[in-house]
Amino acid sequence: MKAAFFKEHGGAEKVLYDDYRDPVPGPDDVVVRVGACGLNHVDILLLDGRFPPPEGLPHVNGCEVTGTIETVGAAVRGLARGQRAIIFPGFACGRCEYCVRGERTVCVKYGYLGAHRDGGYAELVKAPAANILPLPDAISFEAGAALPMAMLTAWHALVAKAELRPGQTVLVQAAGSGVGSAAIQIARLVGARIITTVGSDDKTEFARSLGAERVVNYRTHDFVEAVRTWTNKRGVDVVVEHIGGETFEKSILALTRLGTLVTIGSHDTHWGRLDLRHVYSKNLRVVGTNLGSILELRTILDYVTEGRLKPVIDRAFPLENARAAVQYVLDRKNKGKVLLVP
Ligand SMILES: [Zn+2]
Repeated sequence: MKAAFFKEHGGAEKVLYDDYRDPVPGPDDVVVRVGACGLNHVDILLLDGRFPPPEGLPHVNGCEVTGTIETVGAAVRGLARGQRAIIFPGFACGRCEYCVRGERTVCVKYGYLGAHRDGGYAELVKAPAANILPLPDAISFEAGAALPMAMLTAWHALVAKAELRPGQTVLVQAAGSGVGSAAIQIARLVGARIITTVGSDDKTEFARSLGAERVVNYRTHDFVEAVRTWTNKRGVDVVVEHIGGETFEKSILALTRLGTLVTIGSHDTHWGRLDLRHVYSKNLRVVGTNLGSILELRTILDYVTEGRLKPVIDRAFPLENARAAVQYVLDRKNKGKVLLVP
């Protein structure tokens, strides 16, 4: 098959498009012919070596995949060649203490598609049959490929972790990102009010169209000041943070008493300072989260089918132009998801 892969770490120039070993399914696996694959910031970390692929190089990125089932392992029941599929990207052992508690995303052997195994920047990809959900006919491959990481992570962060309620206020960092554009919609669906940040004024209208009430350009305005003004000095109930560094540090200052910051990524830096006085004196919660459950992904598919959540797609690149697609994400040109289509 053809795939876009890398043999050494670096920037977009390290992404090669060439022949690559075909995936060989085990008895409990299926091979999916990729219809579309979403790009994520974790792809950049895998590529540049900040999060080197655990299985070593060469490596194929790509954790958000839709397509049609091509081959079914000998022990797989209930799935057949030709079915439309979406792959739930998280792998868990099902047996460790945390899996038994139902918290599979913190499995001691947790891994995910495109990181711990080759992913979907390819014509074919292998996944356990247990990770396959049917992709409803109403959802295109492209739309589906925008859901499994960004939409699912944002859903789990807001609904499960922050327990967001109608009428609460939320600060969503980076409306132009996949996670940001998803979080705004989900917060709106819950009935919350949203303030969000953008890095350029041309993304303001986009953020409003998703449901944000107030949009702040963080390059020209202080978002903490903007939150104070917007909430009459109260602060927001919830922050969705995925940038790290100064953004993380200042996000804590945007919270009201008893507020919750959910950290779901570290796109700029893995480090962030915390003014502990705010955390203890205001009884804040700082909560980490990582993906969500396959059941939550199924719920999201239902909402997307009904048109109540819309995957936000910036553009799709042909698979052979993966290098350009990666550069496009690195340049932060995107408003919503960037996809590869074989
Ligand atoms: Zn486990």
